[in-house]
Amino acid sequence: MQEYTSCHWIQHGLSFESNHIKMCCLCCHKGGGRIVITDKFDEKKFDWKTFLGIKQKFIDENIKGIIDPRCDGCFNLVKRGWDDNEKYISYIHFNHWTRCNCDCIYCYTNWDKKNFNTKPYYNVFPVIKKLFEEKLFRPGGEITFAGGEPTILKDFDKLILYMLKNGADRITIHSSGIKYSKGIEKGIKEKKVSVCLSADSGDKDMYKKIKRVDKFDIFWKNAKKYAKAQPDDNKKLVETKFILIPEFNATKEQIDKWIDLNIETGIKSIVLDIEDVYCQDLRNKKKQIPEYLVDLCGYIIEKAKEYKLNLVEYNNFRYLIEEYHLV
Ligand code: SF4
Ligand code: SF4
Repeated sequence: MQEYTSCHWIQHGLSFESNHIKMCCLCCHKGGGRIVITDKFDEKKFDWKTFLGIKQKFIDENIKGIIDPRCDGCFNLVKRGWDDNEKYISYIHFNHWTRCNCDCIYCYTNWDKKNFNTKPYYNVFPVIKKLFEEKLFRPGGEITFAGGEPTILKDFDKLILYMLKNGADRITIHSSGIKYSKGIEKGIKEKKVSVCLSADSGDKDMYKKIKRVDKFDIFWKNAKKYAKAQPDDNKKLVETKFILIPEFNATKEQIDKWIDLNIETGIKSIVLDIEDVYCQDLRNKKKQIPEYLVDLCGYIIEKAKEYKLNLVEYNNFRYLIEEYHLV
């Protein structure tokens, strides 16, 4: 194995985007990510061997010590031995549609919701089927869904059930939680699927303010149903996510209520992040995260410990923890 600086997405990953394929979905670090591998994706012409050949060019650059500036500052970059002689995929991110049954104030789709909710998207199923048939997906690999809202996609359950049947066993789905999916439930029962539900609030009023739909009760009803589907020996398969949005939900009151709801619902794992546009704006202006927000993050870390909740750090929160040495 050769030792050089690279990341697992460059070596073995891809992110399906609305009309192209990227290397990964990360964009919160200094370099900004967004490396396009294939533009104008056409599922009829797509061929995995050719695609892996294009990826190899990026790997060859890394071997020579040339790191793409768009990777600058990314926590995934690491110097170690990479198995670059083997061509396979083990990280897939589905991000190719924008439709959603929610309307979050911080979502990039909110500037033209009608357009994003009607935008055409391609069918990934035939391409994924080929990947599995050609045995190019490495068992144990990670599959994630973002979007848009996955559960409202026409072929979502078909895709999940196909991948489960063909050896995928680490699938993470980001969902608004508004529509219940039997496919997700089956995957949870088999301990192969985990679902991250977007809560962003601790009560009905704040939920409505941020999500701009009146679905708070349905959200928690579905969260409870998913939580109940978890086998006794793995209670980390259902999570709710809270994105801190200064001037909206970044208060102890909202956090306390959100944590209470998780406990009442049987959820043992929580996800935290900080709103991305806000963080990018601070970075651009070379400003520090305000003290009250750093304190609030410290408060959440302590509360999670107190209630024995698994706390998952998403991008901006993770950078904040590292910068302020919060754990
Ligand atoms: S280093 Fe980061 S930005 Fe670059 S490809 Fe890997 S995950 Fe993406
Ligand atoms: S749930 Fe996700 S995709 Fe839907 S509006 Fe909110 S942020 Fe956007």
